[in-house]
Amino acid sequence: MNKFRSLNIRKIQFSSDLHSIRLFSATSASYDKFKCKALVVGGGTAGCSIAAKLASVFGKNECIILEPANDHYYQPMFTMIGGGMKTLSQVRRSMASVLPKKAKWIQDAAVRFDPDDNEVITKQGHIISYELLIIAVGLQLCYGKIPGLEEALSIPNGNVTSIYSPKYVDRHLNALNRFENGNIIFTFPASPVKCPGAPQKICYITEHFLRKTKKREQAHIMYNSSLPTIFGCKAYADALWKVANGRSIEVNLKTNLIEVHGDKNVAVFASMDNPNEKKSIEYSILHAVPPQSPPQVLLESKHLTNEAGFVDVDKATMQHVKYPNVFALGDCASSPNSKTMAAIAGQVGVLNKNIESFLKGKPLRSEYDGYASCPLVTGYDSCILAEFDYNLQPKETFPFRQDVERYSMFLMKRDFMPFLYWHLMLNGWWNGPASFRKLFSLFKRN
Ligand SMILES: Cc1cc2nc3c(=O)[nH]c(=O)nc-3n(C[C@H](O)[C@H](O)[C@H](O)COP(=O)(O)OP(=O)(O)OC[C@H]3O[C@@H](n4cnc5c(N)ncnc54)[C@H](O)[C@@H]3O)c2cc1C
Repeated sequence: MNKFRSLNIRKIQFSSDLHSIRLFSATSASYDKFKCKALVVGGGTAGCSIAAKLASVFGKNECIILEPANDHYYQPMFTMIGGGMKTLSQVRRSMASVLPKKAKWIQDAAVRFDPDDNEVITKQGHIISYELLIIAVGLQLCYGKIPGLEEALSIPNGNVTSIYSPKYVDRHLNALNRFENGNIIFTFPASPVKCPGAPQKICYITEHFLRKTKKREQAHIMYNSSLPTIFGCKAYADALWKVANGRSIEVNLKTNLIEVHGDKNVAVFASMDNPNEKKSIEYSILHAVPPQSPPQVLLESKHLTNEAGFVDVDKATMQHVKYPNVFALGDCASSPNSKTMAAIAGQVGVLNKNIESFLKGKPLRSEYDGYASCPLVTGYDSCILAEFDYNLQPKETFPFRQDVERYSMFLMKRDFMPFLYWHLMLNGWWNGPASFRKLFSLFKRN
């Protein structure tokens, strides 16, 4: 680490100029310069898992993790919190406790990527140079893109809820406990989302909650999705239509939430086919899923990203298409898989092998096939375990039919997955269920 105390060299890069320009400024602050073998930007699911693998190979402090947050959340449990099956404190751990001990954590955010000079500039003005860069900054939640939504979510004990953020996740159960009668509306935004199954899971959990508390007849439940289909993979879409129809949930496709009037409890929707076709609906509870996008730093890094702002990687190797020493994984990568933790488990082993080959100057042979899984919890005792690949073809692990609701899959989601996450995945020891699939295939009936 070098300290620029006397000169305080600050690196500033103009957005139109890919080559950096160093400016010298006489401020009282000091900026550090760090150097490492591997720089992992983001310490969420993806960053933490890959850093654990790399740090154990490269040795103490040769891997730096750049991550601003104090806390790490196991986000797949947010749906369970919405139904009162878990609490926020059960799914939160301090960042310091989950990041690999052999890696160096810099608690700061990347504000500029300079892949031509192999450097990343941080918000506090530090410069980190690397041999390898792994980008894992996830997706940002853009509640502000829907007029009135943030205001409605700020009303104490209000009727608008959202399990997507730790800030709001507790509101849903509170609203359910207060519910007496009326419309309960669930939304799916017109943007990429993490876990595209989650907006539906919370809807089915809510429906079961109302049956359990004898309030089902007082509720009209609507699932309004901007998508043209209920779920991307047809095998599970068929199963989900049965669940929704069987429970009298009104499903409106190509219907996008565009405005919320929290003071009047009214949500405005527009047709995806004709944006001028609008409909206002009064709600007793509105569960809103925010539009999502890659974080700002990527939206401003055009040289690294595709048009939508995702890090432009080869979808099989996860290596950047222009900069060979840059890789990405997780929700911010351009690979067209369903953005889930399960997908990251599939990517992390591939990435680890390809990085090893890259460092040895060999061709990258390990390939990610787009595997993603979504435990579609449909209530307090049932779950459909969806598993599929880039072609949206089922890629199932277990030797029984997975397109039906099962108690065993619910238990796996609620009780086993958290253990797997905290103890195996974040320590770099879980590369997805491929070897179990192989084993179970011996018992599969065709
Ligand atoms: C409600 C909900 C339910 C879900 N259910 C499931 C499920 O059942 N199964 C499943 O497999 N997946 C599920 N997921 C999805 C899963 O949680 C995500 O796909 C996964 O966490 C993504 O990991 P990531 O590391 O890419 O992003 P994140 O875990 O979001 O981490 C990104 C990290 O990058 C950091 N960061 C951001 N910007 C910067 C910057 N400029 N510099 C440095 N660091 C930065 C952030 O602070 C953050 O810690 C669910 C998600 C939600 C929200």
